[in-house]
Amino acid sequence: MSSHIDLHCHSTVSDGILAPAALVRHAAAQGVKVLALTDHDDVRGLDEAKQVEDELGIRLINGVEISVTWNKRTLHIVGLKISPDFAPLLAGLASIREGRHIRAEGMAEGLSKIGIGGSLQGAYAHVGEGGLISRTHFARFLMEHGYAKDTRSVFKNYLVKGKPGYFEHRWANIEDAMSWILESGGIPVLAHPGRYDLGRTNMLKLLSEFREMGGMAIEVVTGSHTKDQYQEFARLAHQFDLLASVGSDYHGAAHSYMEMGRLPDLPAGCVPVWHDWVETADLH
Ligand code: AMP
Ligand code: MN
Ligand code: MN
Ligand code: MN
Repeated sequence: MSSHIDLHCHSTVSDGILAPAALVRHAAAQGVKVLALTDHDDVRGLDEAKQVEDELGIRLINGVEISVTWNKRTLHIVGLKISPDFAPLLAGLASIREGRHIRAEGMAEGLSKIGIGGSLQGAYAHVGEGGLISRTHFARFLMEHGYAKDTRSVFKNYLVKGKPGYFEHRWANIEDAMSWILESGGIPVLAHPGRYDLGRTNMLKLLSEFREMGGMAIEVVTGSHTKDQYQEFARLAHQFDLLASVGSDYHGAAHSYMEMGRLPDLPAGCVPVWHDWVETADLH
């Protein structure tokens, strides 16, 4: 049984391949009934996505995936049901996007030191109109020029810590990002906790601090977790009294960990983050 609910995906507003409306169409065609568009550090796709909502009979949830720094590590916090007009949220996201430009220059400089020229322009050429710049766009540039055969190896060889295209960056303060989400009426969800490679002690510390800061849910079923991690994070959600979320983290065909509409149900015992949402009442 696969879930009809997908609370994490990306459009061309960040590093996805499909424009917001095309993404919603794709989700609907894959059988998704409730969808949250969660672009990195931007909410500008939500209006376009909403325009096809009724026509497709899908329910859209306002979302965003915010890049934050916690103890010198980069984490992603998904905000669900945020208000896309809340000024402090918009100002915070704008400042993260500004930081991304500076970081991109640093990345390009690192790449030029190993003889890879033109990566700044080349990466921006893959950015959608008004969209933000990310490592994904550098990955596409590097692949296009034959530096790597697939996304996995391009990240591993060029774009992660210790590699030439990696540039240390300070993202939003986690407490600030949590308050933007909470004060805009949203639900803070820790995205793909299994991806952070924290070790047991730091993971427990993170979950406990996240909850104290007002965190309400963690992603249990996500395209970037293994089946074992579904169980592991289902247990941790229970232990920390956090709700459980589900999302494909879809970025487009061949650019994703998982297709939409293929996510398994949450493990037994999880309390879904949507347990009290009216949008999902007809899906129970
Ligand atoms: P950024 O926010 O600019 O650091 O870019 C992060 C994005 O890069 C993530 O949201 C993913 O879409 C993508 N990404 C990170 N690591 C990998 C990887 N190993 N393979 C494929 N995509 C990745
Ligand atoms: Mn991404
Ligand atoms: Mn993420
Ligand atoms: Mn994501």
